[in-house]
Amino acid sequence: MNNLSEDEGTTSSKRIYMDYTAGKPVDPRVVEAMLPYMETMYGNPSSVHSFGQEAKQATEEARTKIAELVNAEKKNSIIFTSGATESNNMAIKGFAYRNKDRGTHIITSSIEHMSVMNPCKYLSTRGFKVSFLPVDQYGFVNLETLEKELTDETILVSVMYANGEIGIIQAIKEISRIVHDKKAVLHVDATAAVGQIPIDVKAEGIDLLTISSNDIYGPKGVGALYIKQGARVEPTIHGGGQEQGLRSGTENLPGIVGFGKAAEIAKKEVQTESERLTRLRDRFIKGLTEPIPYAFLNGHPVERLPNNVAVRYSFIEGESMLLSLDMMGVAASSGSACTAKTLEPSHVLRAIGLKHEEAHGSLLFTLGKQNTEEEVDYVIGIMPDIVKRLRAMSPLTSKELKE
Ligand code: PMP
Repeated sequence: MNNLSEDEGTTSSKRIYMDYTAGKPVDPRVVEAMLPYMETMYGNPSSVHSFGQEAKQATEEARTKIAELVNAEKKNSIIFTSGATESNNMAIKGFAYRNKDRGTHIITSSIEHMSVMNPCKYLSTRGFKVSFLPVDQYGFVNLETLEKELTDETILVSVMYANGEIGIIQAIKEISRIVHDKKAVLHVDATAAVGQIPIDVKAEGIDLLTISSNDIYGPKGVGALYIKQGARVEPTIHGGGQEQGLRSGTENLPGIVGFGKAAEIAKKEVQTESERLTRLRDRFIKGLTEPIPYAFLNGHPVERLPNNVAVRYSFIEGESMLLSLDMMGVAASSGSACTAKTLEPSHVLRAIGLKHEEAHGSLLFTLGKQNTEEEVDYVIGIMPDIVKRLRAMSPLTSKELKE
C-alpha cells in the first residue's frame, strides 16, 4: 500500500510510532516492578517502621542501579528529581549559586535543550555572565572557541551529550579535558543519550550528569542528577531535607523503583539494541534521502544517536509532511516536541546554519525498541509520493521538479 492516492483522506489502519524522543512506552518489566509499590508497599522511605524501611531499601536499590548504569563512584552520587528539566535546573542554578564566590561565568552551547538554555538565560539576569558556544554545520561544539572562552572566572560548562533533534554526539571526553585544564566543572545533559549508548562518568570526566527515566523506558515524572564527589550544589527545592538535603519532598517511590528497573535493563541491553537501531537508522536514512531529489540529512552521518533519523526536504514544510504521514499511520515529529508549540524554526536547526525555509522542511523520526525493518521500509515506500505531492502544490518548487 505505497500509493498515497489510495489512502488519501482516510486514516490508515497502520499505527507506526517513530517519535521515541518525545515519549517512550514503559517497558512491561518496569511496570511489573512498579506495581507492588503502588498496591502493597506504599510506605514512606523516611518512616522508621517496616513499611518505611521496605520503601527506603527499594529507593536505595534503584539508586545503585542508576549509579551502575553511568559508572558513578557511589550510589549516593545520584539524586532523584522529577525529570530532566529539574535535574538541569539543579545542576546549573544550584551549582552557580553555590560557587558564585569562585566566579560568575558560565559557558553552554547554542543547541542545548530549553531546560539548559533558560536557566542559563535566567542566571544572566542575576549577575552571571553566560557564553553560548557556536556549533558547526553538524552540531559539533567548536573546541577552540571553548578553550578561548574559558577564563579564571568560568565556574561551569554545560554541554549536552547528544542532541535528540539532530542526533549529534559531542566529543565529551575532549570537552572535559579542556574544561578541567581551566579548573571549571562540566555538566552534561545526557537525557537523549543515556540508555542509547554506554556512558561512563568516570572515564569521560563528567562532574554533573542529567538522566531521565522515560528516556530509558522507565515511567515519566522521575529523573536524576549525578553529582561527583566534591562538586557542590545548592538545593533549588527546600523542604523536609530528603535526597541529602538537595531535593526535598517525599520520594516518588513507584517512579524511582521503575527508573531503577529501567536502568538495570538498559545496562544489560544497550549494546545489542544500539547495534540493531544503528542498522535500522542507516537503512532508513539511505531510503529517505537517496531516491528523493533535494533531500538532506541533518546532523552528522556517523557521530549520531543510533535511533535518530533527521532529514529535510527542500521546498516543503515539515508540518504538512507530518500530517500526510499521520494519515498513513506514521507518527513522527518536525523537531523538538518540547518547542513544537511555537511556529519559529527550532534554535538547534538555526544554530547549525539552516536557513528559515530549510529548517521548516525538516522531519524527525526517532526509533525505539518496537520499530522493525518492515516499518522502516513502509515509510521509505510512502515518502517519495508524499514529497512529490506536496512539492506539486508548493509555490517554491521549480517547474522542472514538478514535472
Ligand atoms: N534535555 C534533553 C536533551 C531533552 O531532549 C529533553 C526532552 N526530552 C529534556 C532535557 C527535558 O526533559 P523533560 O521534559 O522530561 O524534563
